Amino acid sequence: MANNVPITVAHGDGIGPEIMDATLHILKEAGARLDIETIEIGEKVYNSGNTAGIAPESWESLRRTKVFLKAPITTPQGGGFKSLNVTVRKTLGMYANVRPCVSYHPFVKTKNPVMDVVIVRENEEDTYGGIEHRQTDMVEQCLKLISRPGCEKIVRYAFEYAKKNNRKKVTCFVKDNIMKQTDGLFAKVFNEIAPEYSGIENESWIVDIGAAKLVDTPENFDVIVMPNLYGDILSDVTAQMTGSVGLAGSANIGEAVSMFEAIHGSAPRRAGQNKANPSGLFLGAIMMLVHIGQQDIATLAHNAWLKTIEDGIHTYDIAREGTTKETVGTKEFGEAVVARLGQKPETLKTVEYKVIEESGETATKPLYNQPIQAKKDLVGLDVFIHWWNGKFFGAADELGPLVERVNGDGVKLVMISSRGTKVYPGGQPDTFCVDHWRCRFMSDTDGGTLTKQQVISLLGRFEENGLDFIKTEHLYNFDGKAGYALGQGQ
Ligand code: NAD
Repeated sequence: MANNVPITVAHGDGIGPEIMDATLHILKEAGARLDIETIEIGEKVYNSGNTAGIAPESWESLRRTKVFLKAPITTPQGGGFKSLNVTVRKTLGMYANVRPCVSYHPFVKTKNPVMDVVIVRENEEDTYGGIEHRQTDMVEQCLKLISRPGCEKIVRYAFEYAKKNNRKKVTCFVKDNIMKQTDGLFAKVFNEIAPEYSGIENESWIVDIGAAKLVDTPENFDVIVMPNLYGDILSDVTAQMTGSVGLAGSANIGEAVSMFEAIHGSAPRRAGQNKANPSGLFLGAIMMLVHIGQQDIATLAHNAWLKTIEDGIHTYDIAREGTTKETVGTKEFGEAVVARLGQKPETLKTVEYKVIEESGETATKPLYNQPIQAKKDLVGLDVFIHWWNGKFFGAADELGPLVERVNGDGVKLVMISSRGTKVYPGGQPDTFCVDHWRCRFMSDTDGGTLTKQQVISLLGRFEENGLDFIKTEHLYNFDGKAGYALGQGQ
């Protein structure tokens, strides 16, 4: 008999304790081999003055067990409190958020009867770094950071997930026609890694039309990998398309620690009424069992759950006339699943989780590689300034000559843009401008490079000329290739 696996459990807030009790009851009766350490997170911890919502000693439990089964928590309203989910995910490097979204037609009402889609969302990067600044009276900025190892990790994970779960296709959603560098890198890494998985079909869509197709014909999708923001939005959309967000579980996978949960929140208004559906957390727990190598228990419990849904034993949220035979409470739903352990669904697809022995050819490849260091040449500087003459149109014709004054020392102005669109020289009178301007400088010899000293003296001339610079971005060539985008219209 295999040893018990230590896991950390948090019962959470609102409906959390009830759905966790029901979930743990099923796992126990199914024979899950677990040693449970319980930690406190959420409302109580926040209210004790800890703005992170998790006590320092709880981190130790997570680092020790490396597996976290977490019920939803209530994030107190008002400023100062940090999202515990984001804190835990980012602190422990949980780079992949995995959400299987399955329709249980005809037993759960849905507009999309044929649907079995897994969203693999990048979980650490993109605009979710929260690196934001107010730059002028009119303009706020959020930095979108995408790294090569970050892309390699998530894309590799998506293909390995597809391989291990006998999935046929991985689709990539990006907006690389607009964000040619950030989303462009994501797409490039996808195209590099995809050919390594010859048995798995791959395709890419621009996220807007891809999302439209996903909503229209979900049956054509299998695994979909995407950057953080698109994944955040589309994983909720996809879960809702199955008929209820209350039915979806979620895994947050890290290299060391992983976390499993329901995708819904703590539903405080339903708390303490024995009404909530424990299925989302339960299906999160099934992913946990597979993660820790208890495929046998996962198969047993998941099939019993499918049979329960098929038998029309439903909690209030999915109960409908015609499909529901009995509306039950949280506890009774858990009992109904336990009573069906050993049974399989008749109409819905039976699940079977297999242990995959990895060796030789089939071994998992390294998640990411060391960066190759390129030759980096400084070829220009974007100087952002705060300047306003009261005009939303045509102001650049006045600003241009003022900025031309700082030319010199081998550096010259080549363009001014407003929110990315070129407005000087030769701008259009119809371009709407605000008080935030990017002034692009390059060497005055064709293809020449700049020194940091030239940059410093250029900024000195901005100051001497009373131009309020608020930020700079260096323009680099990497191995001779431009590492910066042109202005729109440049
Ligand atoms: P919610 O998901 O808690 O509830 C949305 C709606 O779905 C409600 O009508 C609720 O009754 C229903 N619902 C949710 N889960 C259900 C279940 N298992 N069974 C039956 N009905 C269910 O979202 P919310 O109301 O926006 O948020 C409530 C709290 O949860 C907030 O404090 C929020 O910050 C927090 N939250 C936590 C997590 C998490 O811990 N992972 C995720 C989302 C929201």
